[in-house]
Amino acid sequence: MGRRKSKRQAPQRKRAIEPMETQFACPFCNHEKSCEVKMDKSRNTARIYCRVCLEDYQTTINGLSEPIDVYNDWIDACDAIN
Ligand SMILES: [Zn+2]
Repeated sequence: MGRRKSKRQAPQRKRAIEPMETQFACPFCNHEKSCEVKMDKSRNTARIYCRVCLEDYQTTINGLSEPIDVYNDWIDACDAIN
């Protein structure tokens, strides 16, 4: 009598599906995640810009390009200038 059914609560692990990282640290003002990448795959171009210092950069992409590639291109371009 009076046996308590212990309710086992399975830990709810919410696995948030992380969207593709599109925010990066700015090489100019060094703010974290201030640079946002916009991919325009229909035109094969991508643009990255910094919300803080408003630096921007545009590059060409292909179907396999990811935001990180755009960011890396930008960093390379910055290195080339310096
Ligand atoms: Zn910046």
